[in-house]
Amino acid sequence: MRNVAYKPANHIVAHRGAFKKNGFPENSIASLKEAIRLGCAGSEFDVRMSADDSLVINHDPTHNKLEIEKTGYAELIQHLLSNGEKLPTLREYLVAGSENNKHTDLVLEIKPSGLGSERAQKIVDRVVDLVKELKPPYRIVYISFDYNMCLHLLKRMPKAHVQYLNGDKTPDQLKEAGIRGMDYNFSVFKKHPEWITRAKELGIVLNVWTVNDLTMMQGFLDQGFDLITTNEPEEGLKK
Ligand code: MG
Repeated sequence: MRNVAYKPANHIVAHRGAFKKNGFPENSIASLKEAIRLGCAGSEFDVRMSADDSLVINHDPTHNKLEIEKTGYAELIQHLLSNGEKLPTLREYLVAGSENNKHTDLVLEIKPSGLGSERAQKIVDRVVDLVKELKPPYRIVYISFDYNMCLHLLKRMPKAHVQYLNGDKTPDQLKEAGIRGMDYNFSVFKKHPEWITRAKELGIVLNVWTVNDLTMMQGFLDQGFDLITTNEPEEGLKK
């Protein structure tokens, strides 16, 4: 019997928003709004911090060849996204996420810092401070490859829903740490099918990335996965 308090609206998380089908830039506000319009269970995006401590949404460590962690916000936003949008701040993204949003979780990935553990902790602190200030009406799922960032976030917000990405912790280790989901690459679950069974026993949420092949997607759904993170949310929602 599953014991998962987390009840997503469906099984589909749009990876970097629903960007692909409509040619939106990844991680743009347009891609977030499209994931919400589609009714995805979640819309994922990546958070980084500029040299002057602005939280911005971007997957790569660079934006227009500028290293985000070593560049000031004013310089970063000189370069627009391909649809003419400004590089979004986390504040703008979280505000946009509440428009017409009935049941889409914001899946907030905090990217590791290349500048050391102290700065990594500061990024988490700034994310937490902003969420506490804005008190968004939807659910936020926090994800990270950096285990210490996950732990620090839980220290600041013990009730936060955190899922770990890096694929190197067992379900029991996650449970022990208060991490509520394992959001691993599909190859990890192929290597450790026993983790699927154990996660279900422990009530750990099962999320897999990035699954774009529809047959593979069905396979994970048949195994009882809670969430599939995909670049093909439109197709996934038909399942
Ligand atoms: Mg991501």
